[in-house]
Amino acid sequence: MQFISTRGQVPPVSFSTAVAQGLAPDAGLYLPEQLPDLSPYLKEWEQLSYAELCEAFFAIFATDIDRDALRGIVQRSYTKFDHEEIAPIVKLSDELFVLELFHGPTLAFKDFALQLLGNLYEAQIARTGNPISVLGATSGDTGAAAIHGLLGKQGVTTFILYPDGRISPLQERQMTCTGADNVFPLAIKGSFDDAQAAMKTVFEDREFAAEVGLSAVNSINLARILAQCVYYLSAFFRLPADVREQVTFVVPTGNFGNVLAGWLVQRMGVPIKGFRVATNQNDILHRLFQTGVYKLDAVAPSLAPSMDIQVASNFERFLYYSENCDSAKVREIIRTFKESGEYSFDDFKSDGFSSSRTDDAEIAEIIKRVYAQYDYIADPHTACGFAGEFDGPEIVLSTAHPAKFPDTIVDAIGEDSTHPSLEALKSREIVKHAVEPTPEAIKAFMRQHIVR
Ligand SMILES: *Cc1c(COP(=O)(O)O)cnc(C)c1O
Repeated sequence: MQFISTRGQVPPVSFSTAVAQGLAPDAGLYLPEQLPDLSPYLKEWEQLSYAELCEAFFAIFATDIDRDALRGIVQRSYTKFDHEEIAPIVKLSDELFVLELFHGPTLAFKDFALQLLGNLYEAQIARTGNPISVLGATSGDTGAAAIHGLLGKQGVTTFILYPDGRISPLQERQMTCTGADNVFPLAIKGSFDDAQAAMKTVFEDREFAAEVGLSAVNSINLARILAQCVYYLSAFFRLPADVREQVTFVVPTGNFGNVLAGWLVQRMGVPIKGFRVATNQNDILHRLFQTGVYKLDAVAPSLAPSMDIQVASNFERFLYYSENCDSAKVREIIRTFKESGEYSFDDFKSDGFSSSRTDDAEIAEIIKRVYAQYDYIADPHTACGFAGEFDGPEIVLSTAHPAKFPDTIVDAIGEDSTHPSLEALKSREIVKHAVEPTPEAIKAFMRQHIVR
């Protein structure tokens, strides 16, 4: 199978090239040239374990990777999860379920994709002999999940920029207490935006990028989206057969990467009823689904920090399909939005999505209510999924373990939530590197520390 860019200005590429490049050279996002129809496989797939399902699904897309190699890559990717079902479902009532996506090494759903991406990179390096350097900027979960996906991988050196003193202490420990010698957490003076701006400038230096084999791990990488498709399939199979086609998937949303994966599974012929996009107070997507206007606003830091975003990068993939695969139209919409911070759709098709918005006061209320009603502790991101009017059976995707956000949980329910892997970190040594948030300083640090 070949992969095309949403902006339509580069030729189709193989799976491995799409994964290695991340962003397409025309600044578009990669998508499968054609979405496969999964309906003929569903009966057979229902019996598979999580890793087997993942292998069967990826085999359709990763046609340039040998099947035995693919099996190894996938098998290795789900060995560090602390639940044998990988993505278990908890039943809160006959009509309310939770899909727990926090059993990976950093206790957030991003592990599903980044564990796999680390192994895909490793296999690619083994094949080509070209080492790579990963550079990312993080305000929390992505950096931790990337570091744990890439630590110890042969030929990969990872550099993650984060704003010193502005991420949660536990998230900092997840990044800085690994003991791995191919991973460098770079604490910069400044904000997340400063970190991201510096990172972008480094990527624009083509010569440097080629010299160090620079690669990105943000959620624009298609492999991350495809890895996330698998838990929607797995959840669909594990829901009670008599309700599964009536269940709405409720997804705490920031960059639109998680919910987009589910929506693609639906488009591939799996009879999922629909999706609710659950935002926090940074509600650009909720406003879009309610009004048809995509309009930029300032980011207001919230209790659900991993959903504090302005521009949902993966929205462009949805746009491509909702504009009937018209790349010229996608380019025009993106250009207008970039120039004016706003785009109004004439007849916006919400296409299987509903939406809800939850502010910080409601997040605390919901954590309290869900605990009282179901004896279940929801993390602040997951809490956004429990908002809104009840409209038939729902499965809420739980994107992080509550123990990652102890202060919010204690404030809401008066009790602590803990996790052994986080407790273990507290006695470990923090190793971080102070670097100026300038492209020159970052490049100099990288040149000095790349592991060959
Ligand atoms: C990243 C993240 C989200 C948002 O996911 P998107 O794919 O960006 O929509 C939600 N919750 C948690 C805990 C996250 O880490």
